[in-house]
Amino acid sequence: MAAKLLLLFAVCRLIAIVGLTLNPTDLFRVGLDGHLNTDQDDIKSASTDFGKMTRSEPLAVLHPASAADISNLLKLAYESPRGFPVSARGHGHSINGQSQTQNGVVVQMSRSKTNPSVPVVPVVSENMMYVDVWGGELWIDVLKSTLKYGLAPKSWTDYLYLSVGGTLSNAGISGQAFNHGPQISNVHEMDVVTGRGDVVTCSLDHNPELFHSVLGGLGQFGIITRARIALEPSPQMIRWIRVLYSNFSAFTHDQEYLISLHDQPHSQKFDYIEGFVIVDEGLINNWRSSSFSPNNPVKISSLGAGTGGNVLYCLEITKNYHVGENPKTIDQEVEALLKKLNYIPASMFTTDLPYVDFLDRVHTAELKLRSKGLWEVPHPWLNLFVPKSRIADFDKGVFKGILGNKTSGPILIYPMNKKKWDERSSVVTPNEDVFYLVALLRSALDNGEETLTLKHLSDENRKILNFCKESKIEAKQYLPHYTTQKEWMDHYGDKWPQIYRRKMEFDPRYILATGQRIFDPSF
Ligand code: FAD
Repeated sequence: MAAKLLLLFAVCRLIAIVGLTLNPTDLFRVGLDGHLNTDQDDIKSASTDFGKMTRSEPLAVLHPASAADISNLLKLAYESPRGFPVSARGHGHSINGQSQTQNGVVVQMSRSKTNPSVPVVPVVSENMMYVDVWGGELWIDVLKSTLKYGLAPKSWTDYLYLSVGGTLSNAGISGQAFNHGPQISNVHEMDVVTGRGDVVTCSLDHNPELFHSVLGGLGQFGIITRARIALEPSPQMIRWIRVLYSNFSAFTHDQEYLISLHDQPHSQKFDYIEGFVIVDEGLINNWRSSSFSPNNPVKISSLGAGTGGNVLYCLEITKNYHVGENPKTIDQEVEALLKKLNYIPASMFTTDLPYVDFLDRVHTAELKLRSKGLWEVPHPWLNLFVPKSRIADFDKGVFKGILGNKTSGPILIYPMNKKKWDERSSVVTPNEDVFYLVALLRSALDNGEETLTLKHLSDENRKILNFCKESKIEAKQYLPHYTTQKEWMDHYGDKWPQIYRRKMEFDPRYILATGQRIFDPSF
């Protein structure tokens, strides 16, 4: 009873503020099994994100107990004369306020103090090799549940404390994408609540337009409440190898060669291919470098990184295997692949790790950064998809040009095969068979060094975007951030009419994910 009264209070407050003409008892008739909160702790956490650069306060936060709760809220927003915005928030790991909303309702999809158990636990089908998960489930919890059956998803992000709905709204990429495609290429089916409040099951065969719209759809077309994710037998161990290059074209040549092996049998290719750029010795101390042991045979400084404009490139690859496999076979397979590469001979670092520890590697680094107070800082990240034909120009202009020798965080660079991406999804990628992710994952610090300030790093991001524009490098932002519709139209290019049509079909009142700033609601 007390809970019902609290809920009634919250709803009345929301309705009073939004100025809806609804009678609160109507909402009770519709029914909400979860909690609609207006307390300050909830509002505060839904007002911020990992980027720590943008803040918007919602009026209330819904902790749903079911897809029906979300449907009821969205129906109310859609049908009431004035309407109000609603944004799903997975784990709030966006950079620029994408999961925030001003004067609306945030639907907190992942577990929280108020809602410790999400509506549905992951359900694994061993025979069919898939798992059904709640849209707010974190990937780390998806992994834990599938490992009980010796299975694991095929395609990952580098960090697992992100929600399924959050990464599927973007693409979800990591070193497996060259082979399996992004996470959005590994989904069989979803339940989605549209901006009209309809709960719809969709797949390639069933409501395909909604299926393709939502994947990479930046939360614009519906809230994912269930996703069916493809699984494979989980490897138990990985061999993790890093080698260095001083020559950019040798580095990209080798990366492109390795991803071209995607159709080969498992014994003749790596399972994960990434890379990063080293423009200063800062890399030694950052969160991606924890596996460079002190016994690493090469002192990076001895190779000249950061001196006289020298830049080094690190290729990062892994090979999966099962305990009990003949170690000699793994050695031979790895050796045969490495023989074809042109890295600096003395620069190899290699280690064997349990698969799970490798997948969860960034969390280990997160804990270290947290202990030093370096996690909860502003993150002016810039992620770009750069076409293969222009990656050398990008290297000259950005890594060896604009960046100088201070980066304030890791710079990832790795190529992917476009054929592993479904063109019907809502994501935009460059128009070439191979394109690179370049991720500048920077942290702004206020420690007196001008080059590490938020202003300096944000200005540098703008310079990089201007450089691409002026040099006609047709790069596309990943996890895009724009503030005007004109910029969004340029971003989508030929895809814009389709995006607009999809919006009119599934969220015609522009209720959903207003934090992306693509469509401006009139309320
Ligand atoms: P949120 O920030 O909560 O939401 C992001 C967007 O998705 C919002 O517009 C929101 O409204 C929408 N949304 C959230 N849930 C749903 C849902 N259920 N249905 C529909 N829309 C929804 N990305 C990669 O691809 N590869 C990486 O390796 C990678 N590494 C990262 C490492 C770190 C440390 C961080 C902070 C981010 C990383 N990302 C990576 C980016 C990440 O995938 C996106 O920022 C993602 O959106 C974060 O998920 P989230 O659950 O926090 O989403």
